[in-house]
Amino acid sequence: MAAQQLYESALAFVGKHSPELAEQLVITNATQTQAMLYGDINLDALSWFERLWANYYIYMGNAILATGLMSFLLHEIVYFGRCIPWLIIDEIPWFHQWKLQPTKKTTWAQIWKCTRVVLLTHFTCEAPLIWLFHPICCYFGMSTFEVPFSPLWLMACQIAFFFVFEDTFHYWAHRGLHWGPLYKNIHKLHHEFSAPIGLAAEYAHPMEVMILAQGTISGPFLYCLFRQDLHILTVYIWVTLRLFQAVDAHSGYDFPWSLRHFLPFWAGADHHDFHHMAFVNCFSTSFRWWDYCLGTDNKYHAYKERVASAKAGDRAAVEASEMKKVEADGIAAEREVVSYDKVKAQ
Ligand SMILES: [Zn+2]
Ligand SMILES: [Zn+2]
Repeated sequence: MAAQQLYESALAFVGKHSPELAEQLVITNATQTQAMLYGDINLDALSWFERLWANYYIYMGNAILATGLMSFLLHEIVYFGRCIPWLIIDEIPWFHQWKLQPTKKTTWAQIWKCTRVVLLTHFTCEAPLIWLFHPICCYFGMSTFEVPFSPLWLMACQIAFFFVFEDTFHYWAHRGLHWGPLYKNIHKLHHEFSAPIGLAAEYAHPMEVMILAQGTISGPFLYCLFRQDLHILTVYIWVTLRLFQAVDAHSGYDFPWSLRHFLPFWAGADHHDFHHMAFVNCFSTSFRWWDYCLGTDNKYHAYKERVASAKAGDRAAVEASEMKKVEADGIAAEREVVSYDKVKAQ
């Protein structure tokens, strides 16, 4: 009841300043919503999940609110749901044999700070903007409340395109963020973790979150300019996979069963962890091809080779000393980027 009163006063306030917007936010009853959104579609003929989808929109009584709420909750549940298992894994010593930087231990104070920053960005930057998601989807011709969903083969092709687009966007945007002024003012926060944890995937300046999110979300909108067969459910599956990828890449663990051992072009934690440790190299997210083709993984391969060429008995010690060297070089490289203005003034 209190929530309804709050909603009604908010609506009255919006109505005073923008009657058009207020009109879009009116909640209609179930019969009106069903007639408006689904007309004479026989919902009983649909699959269980499609019926659930339609009933959610009917229950909510307003498509903008329904899409906004679902999008926000999806992000929170998937992101934190994927981060928690990594926090548990890090507390179990048996898993440490696969930790990429085993001497580093994240403190609970760091974890708490990371959680606070991520939540603050989600609630102050993302939450207000997410209500625009439904109108933007409609503008680009993406299906939202509509049922049935796209066939699986179409979903798979669309998601493959989004992965390739995002990886390309991220590679260039990330390289841009390593340019002195952008690094010092924006990207430096994300590099606070030289040995990242899953939660640090979105531990970044709000500007960085906004810039890199374009890679995830522009792919679907770009696709809609050419084809009008994209459903928001496909976008949700894509966002879920992308969040899994981002959190896992920051997990700090490379298991024998990690995806990169089966898909050689998959970057995984092994690739991105090196970026955090070495500060240079490995700028892409999902795939290795951009770094490989442009030679921005030369230090990564040289490091791997030095460790692999050590005798089995010495490997752990060689790896530890190589790690120290790489990290020291990284600290020096970061210092140089941060002091770009002083170098220029000399
Ligand atoms: Zn970086
Ligand atoms: Zn990172």
